[in-house]
Amino acid sequence: MAILIVGAGFSGSVHARELAEAGYDVTVIDKRPHIGGNAYDCEDENGVRVHAYGPHLFHTKSQPVLDWITRFAEFVPFEHKVRARLGDGRLVPLPINLDTVNTVFGTDFSTAEQVQAHLAAIALDIPEPGNAAEHLYAKIGRELTDLFFRPYTKKMWALDLEEMSPAVVKRIPLRMDRVDTYFSSEETQLLPRHGYTALFERLLAHPHITLRLSTGFDRSMLDGFEFCFNAMPIDEYYGFCFGELPYRSIRFHKRTEPAAPPPAWSVTNFTDAGPYTRETNWDALPCHRLHETGHRSVTVEEPCDYRDNGYERYYPVKTADGRYQTLYEQYRELARTEPNMEFIGRCGTYQYLDMDQVINQSLASVRRWLAQYAEA
Ligand SMILES: Cc1cc2nc3c(=O)[nH]c(=O)nc-3n(C[C@H](O)[C@H](O)[C@H](O)COP(=O)(O)OP(=O)(O)OC[C@H]3O[C@@H](n4cnc5c(N)ncnc54)[C@H](O)[C@@H]3O)c2cc1C
Repeated sequence: MAILIVGAGFSGSVHARELAEAGYDVTVIDKRPHIGGNAYDCEDENGVRVHAYGPHLFHTKSQPVLDWITRFAEFVPFEHKVRARLGDGRLVPLPINLDTVNTVFGTDFSTAEQVQAHLAAIALDIPEPGNAAEHLYAKIGRELTDLFFRPYTKKMWALDLEEMSPAVVKRIPLRMDRVDTYFSSEETQLLPRHGYTALFERLLAHPHITLRLSTGFDRSMLDGFEFCFNAMPIDEYYGFCFGELPYRSIRFHKRTEPAAPPPAWSVTNFTDAGPYTRETNWDALPCHRLHETGHRSVTVEEPCDYRDNGYERYYPVKTADGRYQTLYEQYRELARTEPNMEFIGRCGTYQYLDMDQVINQSLASVRRWLAQYAEA
């Protein structure tokens, strides 16, 4: 049976590999000239590995995902750290921790209990938060919300916190101690030693997989295949018949600086109301300095509407009233009527997914499909 896969990112590539190993002939197409989707990386002119679509830091709590993905690359451990730059230039740990609280409030707390008591005293009494602002006010009070989240959210989403779903900020962690790693200690954090692109090369290297890059999806292609797993934007496939599913996008601005010893963190967030959200110093990530050139690379991110960035779709928009998820449900209903197609991945299912989540979902989806076809 011949299967078409649209998209050579994680969702498409995981499907392709599992299907190929099960003996199916798979053709993977991608409209971009490279594999890896948004996880694509390459060496730049400063001898540094950069991730073309923003820093991709692999973290997971799932052992099955780890077992699966480590078949295709050697990984190195690392600890992701982020600092927030305050208006006066001071740098504080993010997620907010004991040291962040001390710096912002000029306090001298040394225990988690003191921080907890302070936050409880400044938190607002909002029993059922209906939006992101209320959720944060009820958790950390006005000052920290307005400093760390209000301008950042406005530039990231072009929405006020009051217009956003609590779901967007619910996953932001809060630390009462001095731990300054971004991800929780329950998660394994790894980076592929030779980069994501090399990982994808191995993932897609199988005699049953044919790869066609710089090839956009066209409905006429379906004639040659018995089934299609499709990671393209679901609204685009249906000609936007119910309206557009909007995304936020990011313009990446790269700067070259004289080489310097890298700091202990790779990402700095900006709390001000200017257009930029964060910058990445690639030298600070393990195995990212590939050749000494005397220069380092820093990428600054400027969020924007996806229509202002060549329809580069990064983050599905989640408003407090959930109107775009309702719109997506209409597309999903339509997709259920397709006998020979399944939409997959970030844009096929209109949800933000970390890499481990997309691997997990893809493994589940393709194994379900394989079980059904084995029965039929
Ligand atoms: C800025 C940013 C930072 C991120 N950082 C992290 C991180 O630190 N850690 C983490 O775990 N996750 C991170 N992610 C999420 C990660 O990028 C996703 O989990 C992953 O890319 C999802 O894979 P996918 O296959 O669903 O989508 P994609 O990677 O987007 O792949 C889809 C592919 O489909 C192709 N395609 C689309 N339409 C067509 C068409 N019509 N014809 C042919 N091809 C088409 C696209 O060109 C693309 O290559 C980040 C995402 C962004 C946007």
